[in-house]
Amino acid sequence: MDNRFDGIKRFENKVWLATPTMHGDEKKWVNDAIDKNWVTTLGENINEVEKAIQEKIGRKYAVGLGTGTAALHLAIRLAGERLYGPQPANVGTLSGKKVFCSDVTFDATVNPIAYEGGEAVFIDTERDSWNMCPKALEKAFEIYPEVKLIVVAHLYGTPGKIDEIRKIADAHGALIIEDAAESLGATYKGVQTGKFGDYSIISFNGNKIITGSSGGMLLTDSEHDANKVRKWSTQARENAPWYQHEELGYNYRMSNIVAGVVRGQIPYLDEHIAAKKRIFERYKEGFKDLPVTMNPCLDDTEPNYWLSCIHINEDAMCKQVRSEREALYITEPGKSCPTEILESMAAFNAEGRPIWKPLHMQPIYRNNSFVTVDGLLRGRSNAYIDEGKAVDVSMDIFERGLCLPSDITMTEEEQDIVIDIIHRCFL
Ligand SMILES: *Cc1c(COP(=O)(O)O)cnc(C)c1O
Repeated sequence: MDNRFDGIKRFENKVWLATPTMHGDEKKWVNDAIDKNWVTTLGENINEVEKAIQEKIGRKYAVGLGTGTAALHLAIRLAGERLYGPQPANVGTLSGKKVFCSDVTFDATVNPIAYEGGEAVFIDTERDSWNMCPKALEKAFEIYPEVKLIVVAHLYGTPGKIDEIRKIADAHGALIIEDAAESLGATYKGVQTGKFGDYSIISFNGNKIITGSSGGMLLTDSEHDANKVRKWSTQARENAPWYQHEELGYNYRMSNIVAGVVRGQIPYLDEHIAAKKRIFERYKEGFKDLPVTMNPCLDDTEPNYWLSCIHINEDAMCKQVRSEREALYITEPGKSCPTEILESMAAFNAEGRPIWKPLHMQPIYRNNSFVTVDGLLRGRSNAYIDEGKAVDVSMDIFERGLCLPSDITMTEEEQDIVIDIIHRCFL
């Protein structure tokens, strides 16, 4: 490290991005399951967490599943069957169909489209909340009017422009799958995220706002669909004396042990959100004098503040170049870049993370279309726009943004040192 960082001591205990925060009740419910011998994918813990989440979000049905990704897969299959009819077991329900989806998000949001044979079309991001841009979505319907499905995520616990997206979806007779994996407890105009999708999902992965170590849920208001998901997630057995199969099934159901951990966490959701908000506010105050902004949110929304992020002003960016696997930068007085900040924090044992690399830039999705407010930036159509002039908001957020340590157990002293390290990057 150069002398800008003189006097800062390496953290003895690593300062993490986001880790589980246990409270003790988790053990009680896990032990309860073991004591009663409900050590399977059935039991009181599953029933109780399904009930609690369904009430919290205001949906008629919540189905506990092994992961959020499994919930997305089954949501996509439900939507595919509703839109295009059931398909033979070896043909995905979205076979050959395009699906519009968020671009700056975890790849788990969109991979299940491919599991069902569909083709993701990535929609550019807006600057107000770093979520799917309704204007780019409208543009996408101009180019591909036949599309009937939209998969939209709320990035880092900050709700997107869901009313506008719903209006556009309705105008085109399209269904919405809402990926609220990162945003449990966040509200849009007073309504919980997870309430807005024709099918919605949440996740209890180990780094989310509450956790079961893993786990996820599908949310719906249709009893028929909830029953389908229960059936498909337990190998799609028919009501017969033997194992009778008329549909393709999966082993996707939530474990009653995992549900015990979730059951112990649910009462602490609001406390976790309050802690995450304090972390966000402290960063915001700490960076008042730096050329950076925090991840933005819309009026009328209350994020769950899962991850605190910063975006560096354009004129305060030093030179940074990223290849597929590596990054380089050149330090410059008064300027910095995500790579310098991430490497500096890492040198002192604090964990940050780049913004999700836009999915349209991922090698696995390199041939998929990408639509911005100006039109088609890439894809198989004659509606191209000039790449040189196009604004790619997703890439801009990726290039200039990063996620900061946002762990609930981080102390104020530790956070102040992180703030100090980042200040020194700009020296
Ligand atoms: C974590 C996450 C998922 C996947 O959830 P898992 O439970 O890890 O399978 C999906 N989408 C987003 C946006 C996520 O952050």
